Amino acid sequence: MDRSADPCVDFYQYACGGWIKSNPIPLDEASWAIYEKVDRENQRYLWGILDRFATNTADRTATQQKIGDYFAACMDEAAMEKLGAAPLKPHLNRIEAMTSKRELPEVLAALQLATASNGLFFEFDSDQDYADATQVIAFARRGGIGLPDRDYYFKDDDRSKEIRASYLGHIARTFQLLGDSSEVATRNATVVMDIEMALAKASLTRVDRRDPHKLFHKMDVHGLQALTPEFDWTSYLRAVGLDTVDVVNVTEPDLYEELGKQWRSLDLDDIKTYLRWHVTEAMAPHLSSAFVSENFAFVSRTLRGVPELRPRWKRCVARVDEQLGEALGQEFVSRVFGPELKQKTLHMTQQVEEAMGQDINALPWMSDATKQRALEKLRTVVNKIGYPDKWRDYGALEIKRDDYFGNVERGNQFESKRQLAKIGKPLDRGEWLMTPPTINAYYDPKRNDINFPAGTLLPPFYDPKMDDAPNYGNTGGTIGHELTHGFDDQGRKFDARGNLTDWWTKSDDEAFTKRTQCVVDQYAQYTVVDDIKINGELTLGENVADLGGLVLAWMAWKMETAQQKLQSQDGLTSEQRFFVGYAQWACGSYRQEDLRVRAIVDPHSPLKYRVNGLVVNMPEFEKAFACKRGQPMAPENRCRVW
Ligand SMILES: [Zn+2]
Repeated sequence: MDRSADPCVDFYQYACGGWIKSNPIPLDEASWAIYEKVDRENQRYLWGILDRFATNTADRTATQQKIGDYFAACMDEAAMEKLGAAPLKPHLNRIEAMTSKRELPEVLAALQLATASNGLFFEFDSDQDYADATQVIAFARRGGIGLPDRDYYFKDDDRSKEIRASYLGHIARTFQLLGDSSEVATRNATVVMDIEMALAKASLTRVDRRDPHKLFHKMDVHGLQALTPEFDWTSYLRAVGLDTVDVVNVTEPDLYEELGKQWRSLDLDDIKTYLRWHVTEAMAPHLSSAFVSENFAFVSRTLRGVPELRPRWKRCVARVDEQLGEALGQEFVSRVFGPELKQKTLHMTQQVEEAMGQDINALPWMSDATKQRALEKLRTVVNKIGYPDKWRDYGALEIKRDDYFGNVERGNQFESKRQLAKIGKPLDRGEWLMTPPTINAYYDPKRNDINFPAGTLLPPFYDPKMDDAPNYGNTGGTIGHELTHGFDDQGRKFDARGNLTDWWTKSDDEAFTKRTQCVVDQYAQYTVVDDIKINGELTLGENVADLGGLVLAWMAWKMETAQQKLQSQDGLTSEQRFFVGYAQWACGSYRQEDLRVRAIVDPHSPLKYRVNGLVVNMPEFEKAFACKRGQPMAPENRCRVW
């Protein structure tokens, strides 16, 4: 804390100033916050586990052998250095050998499976049918660009122009690493940029993509075929291992129409150039240091302002977490997350849900009809705490001790095929989208469940040795946040069963929109960096979840402690400690470049406003710190949704 700051003037500085001062951003990070620091500690812990299993001993289980060998292969930098660009050769040869655009579907399918990149024209996988959440159907999604967002291709401020110029240079240098002359490489970079520009133009904005209705265009394969007449979807589907597909949700038909145009008008050579670029860019982090450095220089240093590449061990731990996450997660959970902790955090979750039920019942702006549907949805939410009931089976994934690049490809293929194999099968409700050591949490509107990986339920977030006030402020706030996502501008469009249906009366819909507009306008006033303000629409769901989440956590805490006499500690009342507990998940800072990227791509507001922007809306805060009305943290006008 920084007790010299006035909590009624800048609560974030008061609660986090001390942490921020003593925790400068490490040289290999774009931002540094408590989440990231704990994440790094977790990585070190996982490193210890992996280091042990990396030794080829007879007592390893089959799963331990997989994660150990994967890690050992990844750490063998000398082997990678010796190979140079050689591991890419089979892919590059295949691209080069194309004699007609008719071969594109098959070649593209193979490249997508091996790289898992969404840069190769589009992404094809599976997801729940928005109209019937019990069914998994094929999804043809957006993709095809290399910059972090479609907006990067059009914005004409100096910084955006500079980034496009750097991107062209990065593409050209990468082609030179593959052996192109500098002249050819420069021309090739322009070819790539022109294609990406056309695809970006046909892509929806991030704000548009928040509306699930805009992403729901179910059609049969003939419909998809009609959008892209030249591309033979039958041979594409066969190549990714699917015999027939009855229905596809084409999330952005305009983009597919543009893809059709591109495939019709582009020369085969230009298509080859584009494919070479995206395969190389996707796999560069797994090649020799020349490729790794070139990739880092643009993706991390230019875009995010990171001075130094992460040490190898960190990158390798992250790779295991990405490709064998539930195998590594089992080892993590068995060491750190016991049944008692699971029980305690489940209890807290139930208290927050109870609070939300009371809150909905008492809402002044919602009709009884909508309240009944909201309560039904709330009662149906499934609580997933810590780790999955059933661990993923990696038996079919072959890991070799001496073939890191091959492991990455096989890992990508394993995951792509796992996703595609779900098509037409009943939904697995037990599946998790995050691994157990992850410091994060999520709400899934189509499964209607909230998910808290074990990593998020450990100190300093949830600390069983602390009293309820900071725990409810911190972890209770996170639980409330995820729960509220079920009812934010996106989540409220799905019903209790996860179907995209409108269950709101017209007047409730208007009342909700009016209340959220208050939040949109409030956050749009905050500056991110330079003259860039928060995008109030992009961040709406998260801002509403922050506010609603802490309101619910407060109610749950008051319920939990109704019979107790609350004690002051460290010179702070319990109420004050609740708010400090909340703020202290969010202490952190960012590099300027990172803030600029986040302003475009991140649906979360910068940490400072996730604290200050929230407490200004809670009268409980004003009371707890005896702020005077009109001080910065106690304004006259407040927003309130939940
Ligand atoms: Zn969220």
